[in-house]
Amino acid sequence: MTAQRIDGKALAKRVRAEVAERAQAFEQRFGRKPGLDVVLVGEDPASQVYVRSKERAASRAGLIGNVHRLPAETTNEQLLALVRTLAQDASVDGILVQLPLPKHLDETRVLDAIPPEKDVDGLTPHNLGLLTAGRKGLRACTPSGSMRMLKEIGFELEGKRALVIGRSLLVGKSIAFMLLEKNATVTLAHSRTQDLAGEVGRADLVVAAVGRPGLVRGEWLKPGAVVIDVGINRLEDGSLTGDVDFEGAVERASFITPVPGGVGPMTIAMLLSNAVDAAEAIEAAR
Ligand code: NAP
Repeated sequence: MTAQRIDGKALAKRVRAEVAERAQAFEQRFGRKPGLDVVLVGEDPASQVYVRSKERAASRAGLIGNVHRLPAETTNEQLLALVRTLAQDASVDGILVQLPLPKHLDETRVLDAIPPEKDVDGLTPHNLGLLTAGRKGLRACTPSGSMRMLKEIGFELEGKRALVIGRSLLVGKSIAFMLLEKNATVTLAHSRTQDLAGEVGRADLVVAAVGRPGLVRGEWLKPGAVVIDVGINRLEDGSLTGDVDFEGAVERASFITPVPGGVGPMTIAMLLSNAVDAAEAIEAAR
């Protein structure tokens, strides 16, 4: 079996086109563009690249994409003051604080300062609570993008065994609840899981969100499994690779996301979609 690649770039392009139409309709109706504000603290090279992509994608889709770049030595109070200002600003619909923050900053306090209705990363306790309750709310972009990919290939989750490897709030835990909502039987694996190979071998769907190149061996997969590789790892030669041994997995899986060009582009597309959702909900509540 040779797996079909799920083309995240092409799907993301379609999602961005949908967002652009909605952003235009929003502007016609409310006389302003949806506003997405991204806060970047410090000079982490990967974060700088991600933030530039978000800024560009926002303006191309007809949103106002503002980036607030703060020096690495920014204090908790300074960062909180900025987030509180954005929280009050009526032209700002979405606030995203790029993670990870420099070590001296208190991530929890900063996330808690984002009002749930502007939390386009879906990381505030309120939005995580709505997710676990199966209620509508702003949801994390990478898991939402992964779910959209599963929908695109027509993968029926009901009753299937889904293995999520990695339990971060941003990815692993959030997608586990989304899969559960679709009636999959979900297993959440992590660094203390015994027999990861055995868990992988039983799964109809494997979502890998760890950050270790080639952790999931192709030969572990159940033949015909669907593989969503969220991992982004930079190799010594500068190239990017996922958490799944792609060459091996292609031989056994039915569908697989490549890295790069898989989940990554979907994350940004879903962020824009969340920003328009936030803007619409904010206007509806005015
Ligand atoms: P994270 O917060 O570092 O979480 C990593 C998870 O992997 C943890 O739950 C950890 O378990 C688990 N883990 C570590 N070693 C393991 C092992 N040997 N076997 C099984 N599980 C293991 O990372 P994250 O933020 O979720 O990101 C995960 C990956 O996705 C990274 O490569 C990141 O760059 C990528 N990512 C991509 C996108 C995108 O847009 N495509 C977005 C976000 C993240 P413990 O909890 O036990 O420590």
